[in-house]
Amino acid sequence: MSQNPPNLRPDLAPQPVFNANPRSDQPTIGMVSLGCPKALVDSERILTRLRAEGYQISADYAGADAVVVNTCGFLDSAKAESLEAIGEALQENGKVIVTGCLGAEPDYITGVHPKVLAVTGPHQYEQVLDAVHGAVPPAPDPFVDLLPASGVKLTPRHFSYLKISEGCNHACKFCIIPDMRGKLASRPAHAVLREAEKLVQAGVKELLVISQDTSAYGLDRRYSTHDWKGEEIRSHITDLSRELGRLAPADDLWVRLHYVYPYPHVRDLIPLMADTSNAVLPYLDIPFQHAHPATLKRMARPAASAKVLDEIKAWRDICPDITLRSTFIVGYPGETEEEFQYLLDWMDEAQLDRVGCFQYENVAGARSNALPDHVPAELKQERWDRFMEKAQAISEAKLEAKVGTIQQVIVDDIDEDGIATCRTKADAPEIDGNLFIDEGTEGLSVGDLVTVEVDEAGEYDLWGGLTKA
Ligand code: SF4
Repeated sequence: MSQNPPNLRPDLAPQPVFNANPRSDQPTIGMVSLGCPKALVDSERILTRLRAEGYQISADYAGADAVVVNTCGFLDSAKAESLEAIGEALQENGKVIVTGCLGAEPDYITGVHPKVLAVTGPHQYEQVLDAVHGAVPPAPDPFVDLLPASGVKLTPRHFSYLKISEGCNHACKFCIIPDMRGKLASRPAHAVLREAEKLVQAGVKELLVISQDTSAYGLDRRYSTHDWKGEEIRSHITDLSRELGRLAPADDLWVRLHYVYPYPHVRDLIPLMADTSNAVLPYLDIPFQHAHPATLKRMARPAASAKVLDEIKAWRDICPDITLRSTFIVGYPGETEEEFQYLLDWMDEAQLDRVGCFQYENVAGARSNALPDHVPAELKQERWDRFMEKAQAISEAKLEAKVGTIQQVIVDDIDEDGIATCRTKADAPEIDGNLFIDEGTEGLSVGDLVTVEVDEAGEYDLWGGLTKA
């Protein structure tokens, strides 16, 4: 499951950044982007197109001529939140176009909100544009509607999500993504690289590669080859990562891979991560979800039988600095105390750097709902507490070991007191920890890549000082 982490849920998704100062005659579209980073990329693309056609984008329903709501439908709580956002937009504005994951279930939306102008599914950019044109005709002005090459971005300017494929060929029992987003559909490698190159040219310092199943990238295209700067490259995660890592010098760009499954060919990515001349970070976000073979089987997880601990050891042998992040589900139907204890013991061995954990929750339409022996809520909570205690202790020890080391960090924010919030290579935005620099930050800017010496560690975060040049 790619996008379960709670901090990727709608309430915690990165907030859009909008451009102010509309022309007086410029049609204005409000945009509400709910959901995970993948949905955010969809919103960015829609905005890019709308801006190119002369629309002004607003974060406010009231001043807009119409509102696009990009919905999330992954969990029941997210669906409810999406319906609420649509209702609010209808009340405040009246002209509402719905898109995104929940748009795959138009009757569900129109049953509650019959007055929406149009409902389109995920990545149906053209239909969204058609609906916007129908509601508010464009008024282009070629002199002022020039877009930056990278388009309009909803994330901070110095990092950007890069979606390489849609959908998923698996059928994990707790997940309805394949029903909502369809089978795996990969973008050709040269198209992804061209988009990434534009982002880097526009100042992006960190590319976050996302998809439902990053290691399966290109399988649907049979790893078709494409010309990229005079070289034949395959639409395969190894080729794509290598070329992304060459878009800029490694001390000027970070490329971070998310949602990678431990397929055997992932081992081919590790030498790239160990190669300090390539910008691919030594970081793997792998949603393991559980460790016990019987639980994984009941989940119908891909690569359930892989000898994951052996793989982890092999990765660390090649790249000792690799950071491993994962997510887990506790209290899955039928999970016994023995299975759960196995997971805890596995965690002791795996020593993952960063871990997220969720208590199992039924999702409408998921096959796991019908499994026997659902775990009572109190027991789920108890297991979650035990799991997090273990994960926290591991994380704390790993961070403590970083005290005294020199780390390259990226600056995400500098507050009015001059405290810089940064991240090391081991920290993805929104989901991992931070490194704070408390003083000497004059002259630093958001997006800078600088080196620090770590001088203090907490449970999840680090503190450090800039090294002298
Ligand atoms: S079916 Fe499985 S692999 Fe595919 S998106 Fe869902 S959880 Fe991830």
